Amino acid sequence: MTFNLEKVAIEEDCRTSTLTTRILNRIPSSVRVQYVNDGRMAARPSSDTRDPFGSGKRRMVIMRRRGPFLTGCPASSAEFACCGYLVLILASNCPMDCSYCFLQEHLANNPGFQVYANYADSFDELDRLACAGSGRSFRIGTGELADSLAFDSVTAISRDLVSYFAKHQNLMLELKTKTDEIDNLLTVDPRGRTVVSWSLSTPRVFTNCEHHTAPPTSRINAARRVVNAGYQVGFHLDPLIAYAGAEQDYFELLDCLFDTVPARAIAFFSIGGLRMTPALRRTARRRFPGDAMLLGEEVLGEDGRYRTFTPLRLRLFARLRERIAAACPQLPIYLCMESASAHHRVFGAVPPSPASLGSRLAGG
Ligand code: SF4
Repeated sequence: MTFNLEKVAIEEDCRTSTLTTRILNRIPSSVRVQYVNDGRMAARPSSDTRDPFGSGKRRMVIMRRRGPFLTGCPASSAEFACCGYLVLILASNCPMDCSYCFLQEHLANNPGFQVYANYADSFDELDRLACAGSGRSFRIGTGELADSLAFDSVTAISRDLVSYFAKHQNLMLELKTKTDEIDNLLTVDPRGRTVVSWSLSTPRVFTNCEHHTAPPTSRINAARRVVNAGYQVGFHLDPLIAYAGAEQDYFELLDCLFDTVPARAIAFFSIGGLRMTPALRRTARRRFPGDAMLLGEEVLGEDGRYRTFTPLRLRLFARLRERIAAACPQLPIYLCMESASAHHRVFGAVPPSPASLGSRLAGG
């Protein structure tokens, strides 16, 4: 993984926090450091650049989070067959730069790469969830508004998280990443309560779209290493892009995965197609005019997002589902942000309820 950090802005209140000390001890001396009264202002778009969103990725803001850390998954909706996921927001934006990333639209007004110095307060929220769950198990991820492990080499937050979840039998942590930054994970015993998941893409999608991420083989090798350290792993074929020749490329990717990672260590697979709102598609095409993957023939769906023509998309989903099921017959596989009818066409069955799928994935 390669990316550049140019500047760190630190909120005055966070000057002496543990996270600030850790980060300042680990960033290169060439990175400029500035103290600010309100990190929210430092996270606003810069006016002196043609690409405020890209520039925000190179500007880390260490600040206090004012709102709750724990929220529902932004993708959950009555329209979709969901998995009942909860999101823990410990950072906002990501130093990598995928051309299709929804953050380009979602964080357009505050693109600074925020990390929250009071992240340990999230453990109080998790304590309350664990106690109020009445026997339910919960699956909680940190990889929605940021990659879970990007910059873990300087924040080391993953160690605290894995240690916390290791003590809670009805909570399951998912760390979702496109990096191979797993060294901190190898120092902690997850005790069965952390799944590390990778978004996997074909080499062609990686080269065209996924700037500064780790190559697919590095992600797969990193998965093998965390399995050896006692973690379960999961994989997201998301966003799946249905370009000419995609099926064969995804088959080869799965072959490489199943040759490297033992099926018994895989907790789940999710599959989701490329989807973009008109605004995201405009932004993505403007920021990445040479990316042919963004120029496919797509249809605007009832939910206001462009997707690949449905028969083409669902055929690819079904072929990959068959391939995964042949290698790992008992593995939970689910679709992300697809309707119940799409689920029925791919699996030949109605989707499980969010509560039951979520509980199954959380080990409950
Ligand atoms: S790694 Fe994930 S969060 Fe980061 S730019 Fe890519 S899609 Fe967005």
